[in-house]
Amino acid sequence: HLDRIAEVDSTLHAFLHVGHDSALASAALVDEGLAAGTAPASPLAGVPLALKDVFTTTDMPTTAGSKILEGWRPPYDATVTARLRAAGITILGKTTMDEFAMGSSTEYSAYGPTRNPWDTTRVPGGSGGGSAASLAAFEAPLAIGTDTGGSIRQPAAFTGTVGVKPTYGGVSRYGLIAAASSLDQGGPCARTVLDAALLHEVIAGHDPMDSTSIDQPVPAVVEAARRGADGDLSGLRVGVVRELGGEGYQAGVRASYDEALRQLEKLGAQLVEVSCPHFEYGLGAYYLIMPSEVSSNLARFDAMRYGLRVDKGASAEEVMAATREAGFGPEVKRRIILGTYALSSGYYDAYYGQAQKVRTLIARDFAAAFTQADVLVSPATPTTAFPLGDKVDDPLAMYLNDLATIPTNLAGTAALSVPSGLADGLPVGLQVMAPALGEAVMYRVAAAYE
Ligand code: GLN
Repeated sequence: HLDRIAEVDSTLHAFLHVGHDSALASAALVDEGLAAGTAPASPLAGVPLALKDVFTTTDMPTTAGSKILEGWRPPYDATVTARLRAAGITILGKTTMDEFAMGSSTEYSAYGPTRNPWDTTRVPGGSGGGSAASLAAFEAPLAIGTDTGGSIRQPAAFTGTVGVKPTYGGVSRYGLIAAASSLDQGGPCARTVLDAALLHEVIAGHDPMDSTSIDQPVPAVVEAARRGADGDLSGLRVGVVRELGGEGYQAGVRASYDEALRQLEKLGAQLVEVSCPHFEYGLGAYYLIMPSEVSSNLARFDAMRYGLRVDKGASAEEVMAATREAGFGPEVKRRIILGTYALSSGYYDAYYGQAQKVRTLIARDFAAAFTQADVLVSPATPTTAFPLGDKVDDPLAMYLNDLATIPTNLAGTAALSVPSGLADGLPVGLQVMAPALGEAVMYRVAAAYE
């Protein structure tokens, strides 16, 4: 995989940092362990992985795609990082992402974008485009992403790979650099559903270091993925969300979706139409709540504690202002301003408070739909991968990428994107959504479909 990275990554730029020596050392350690019978018992021991650069790593820099963290070496490993290491998984390097996970194309990375291996004039999606591209280009067989509004699922759809956003609280956020804490969730990325399930079981599970971590057994997703491979979904009800997949979706994406529904039926699933009337307000609510949390979380980049410091001016405030001016990119600044405005006195009830109410209504839509169906489906994204440069100056067009993925984040439920054929020569993703901690049935359906 290191050879493959050396061969293709100057074109793709899936990696911000390749840990060549540390990867070889870690792999050698597992080899020795296997020979001596002391290697970790995990089925993934010795398998290499690409880690999104938003998880802290003591042996590699961690930038979250931002200049403000350039050169920062974290003093501790994220829980996800530590669990990967404990399973004997070799971390190849840190992958390219939109700055602080804000974006849908990796073009907001402060270190240059990633290109889509299917067509290098196109984006791989974002914010976890580097992780997804590394899988599609065979630079890594496994990767980790984070999904705040779609950043695992949308890149998976754009690159023909599998991406899973676990139930909120299912995977620890300790050492995951926060964007929007009530939405952020780490998850597995892979080329097959079973690979994703194997990785899911390595990283998921309760962590006392994260107060929102769920203290319950991890759903048996490996068993579910294996069961799904028999291709029999009889007895399962698949809810087709009326509000997702119609207007605003590329014709080729709709055609692939229709085909996917027919195939699910062929596998024995019973299709039921469900309505989630508040989903159409999801995007609006998300782009108030998400920036609000960003404006608070990113206050910690104050020029004193981490990374960049621009020593301009006499006071701490002046140094802070100069550092934030130089260190944050335009999209991050846009969200900080938006969030600060939405939270300011006199506007709080009209914007943030209202958005929180919409969030509750969306969670209720899901709860009602899950009484009628075991899983819900939709296209993962409205379009296939778009050309670099197409949307970078049009934030609203960029935000529309997350139309179908955002409701899941707002509700804290689980969802994944599984490859669903091609439209106009580019990959399409089918989204499968499940209730909180309902990952098993979601993996089963995806494995049967894949
Ligand atoms: N594209 C969305 C955003 O820009 C989602 C990001 C994410 O999931 N990290 O906020």
